[in-house]
Amino acid sequence: MAQYSFTNYTVFGDKAAIAVCAVIIILLMTSYVSRKRSLRMYMNIIASIMFAAVVNIICHVVYNGGNPSLYWLVYVLRSLYQALLFDVFFLFALYTTEITRMEHSKARIAVIIATVFFLGIVILDVVLTALGVGFRIEPNGRVVSRTNLFMIGYAVFVVFQIFLMCSVRNLIYKRVLYSFLGTVAISLLIQTEQFLLKQSTLTTLTFAFPAIAMLYIVHSNPYNVTIGAVDARALEDTVRTMYARERQFLYLGFFLPEYEAEGKELPQEVRAVVRKLAWNYFRSAVLFQIDHGQMVLLAPKRRNRDYEKRIQKLLAAFDKQYQRYQIPYKIVIGESVEEVSRKNEYASLIRSVQRELPENTVYRIVPDDIFRYDRNEYILRELADIHNKRDLNDPRVLAYCQPVFNLRTRQFDTAEALMRLQLDRTGIVTPDQFISPAEKHGYIHTLTEIILHKTCTEIKRLTEDGFQIRRISVNVSVLELKEESFCEDVRRIIRDSGIPEEKIAIELTESRSDADFLVMKAKIEELRSEGIRFYLDDFGTGYSNMERIMELPFDIIKFDRSLVIASGTGERSERIVENLAHMFRDMDYSVLYEGVEDDVDEERCREMSASYLQGYKYSRPVPIERLRDFLQKPERP
Ligand code: C2E
Ligand code: CA
Ligand code: CA
Repeated sequence: MAQYSFTNYTVFGDKAAIAVCAVIIILLMTSYVSRKRSLRMYMNIIASIMFAAVVNIICHVVYNGGNPSLYWLVYVLRSLYQALLFDVFFLFALYTTEITRMEHSKARIAVIIATVFFLGIVILDVVLTALGVGFRIEPNGRVVSRTNLFMIGYAVFVVFQIFLMCSVRNLIYKRVLYSFLGTVAISLLIQTEQFLLKQSTLTTLTFAFPAIAMLYIVHSNPYNVTIGAVDARALEDTVRTMYARERQFLYLGFFLPEYEAEGKELPQEVRAVVRKLAWNYFRSAVLFQIDHGQMVLLAPKRRNRDYEKRIQKLLAAFDKQYQRYQIPYKIVIGESVEEVSRKNEYASLIRSVQRELPENTVYRIVPDDIFRYDRNEYILRELADIHNKRDLNDPRVLAYCQPVFNLRTRQFDTAEALMRLQLDRTGIVTPDQFISPAEKHGYIHTLTEIILHKTCTEIKRLTEDGFQIRRISVNVSVLELKEESFCEDVRRIIRDSGIPEEKIAIELTESRSDADFLVMKAKIEELRSEGIRFYLDDFGTGYSNMERIMELPFDIIKFDRSLVIASGTGERSERIVENLAHMFRDMDYSVLYEGVEDDVDEERCREMSASYLQGYKYSRPVPIERLRDFLQKPERP
């Protein structure tokens, strides 16, 4: 008597399939998975496998009950079971198109073929049974089947799936392809053996194997399957392990500024290039995707002793690709260093070096870069601390001051306050090293408040000691004006110090944005009505919109040193600067020349409608306590 796989069935295989799916669901719920669209498809696959196993168990329970009046239910359940399994195949195909981001038109064709296979097999199975040539249970309970449609369908789908994976082999990272094909091979092997032994116990379980592989590869997040990169956290893990094992490595940071923005995807050709980087040039290298357009390749030195040669090869290949695609890049290359490994800060080191790098350059990180990076990080931490403490007397923020010569009174009776930081590890830090990070991180207003407070305090002291000081100007960043409390903060600090508002001026630099302009205008008008003066700083650097400048109630226009220099380069330039200055003066603005360095500069500026002169000729910026050396004390006999 022939044996039939339907009857050679024990419940253990399906129970195991249910258990495996349950484990996967637990993993998905408790571990870090990226919530992409493919995850939903994946969940559907798992649900279908589980459901199929349950249906199959019930089907056999009913059949084994031996009640012929319930055999119709066995037919239904068996068909449902097979339909669910083919549904899993169908979903695998769909899933493949999704994770490989297959081209839309190709994906559509794949889905149509899978649908046709799916419906074809399910319908054919029902038809064959109805015609009496398919699956049949005789009244005595014996199962007969003259065709093995299931096995044919199984084979068709496996072949289709392999075909699909191979047709996208250029879109995905090879290791992903191999692991998927490997698990499919195992399933196929088990299924073939079952076929030969006329068994069906493990059928459902064989569908769970590729699902396990996908869980690990696609959703537990190791690889970006299209470029073969792992994410930034994985970089930290790797560095930690390498450091613990004292392994030296080298790293290459690739930055494609065009793809920096969120949601900007690398074009397919470029993904193929990047994929090669991870795979072709170094042994045991791993590629990490740190950010949009930002990748880091890490390779152990031990396995790549000839790494200099390998780097050159990779760069040559990269250059060839660049000739084709012309996508701007910045590449930095470095070798592991104890202190950076210990702090696990390669990603941010690379980023900070890249920030300063011109486009389309390859740069080797040198010890000085690491020193500078460390210093900047340290300054940033101190700035954050200053910001958080918000102590107006914070000793780390120093008020320096540069006296300004007033041509009308022939005295130094105003000055500009300039900020410095005094930090334990670095000593004095100049504004070029901290103003723009402070602006970027939102600490600038706190710094301004401190400088304003210290300036007010010094003005108070000076007047009490009988010195003549008309006013001191303080630099304010346009960003600060957007803070709701800006005017109130300024007012409060001046009042608390007990000096009149006229003793303080604010220097602002022009901004391009319309929104800034309106905010700026409103705030300037508010504070100016209370006696605070306003200076337009850095006039002549880059962009100047005269119409707008005129709309703002400035008192003094500060001509930047670049205009002072320009005016000394020829008659024409001098006339232009002179006319500009003259025009401002005609309109009741005072003109201040910045960066007057010598007698020649001074002479020229005097003749170009100057009211005030400021520059190294008179003094470098000095600690504000030393301003008194420049001021007059009229009571003195
Ligand atoms: P700024 O407002 O244009 O300040 C003038 C800068 O020119 C100062 O540099 C000053 O030292 C320099 N300088 C003065 N005389 C001469 C000269 O004769 N020749 C040349 N070549 N340079 C001269 P400093 O102090 O390094 O400040 C640089 C910039 O940092 C300032 O440019 C200002 O934009 C910013 N800054 C300084 N202090 C503050 C502050 O308290 N708050 C804000 N928001 N920015 C500040
Ligand atoms: Ca200034
Ligand atoms: Ca200036």
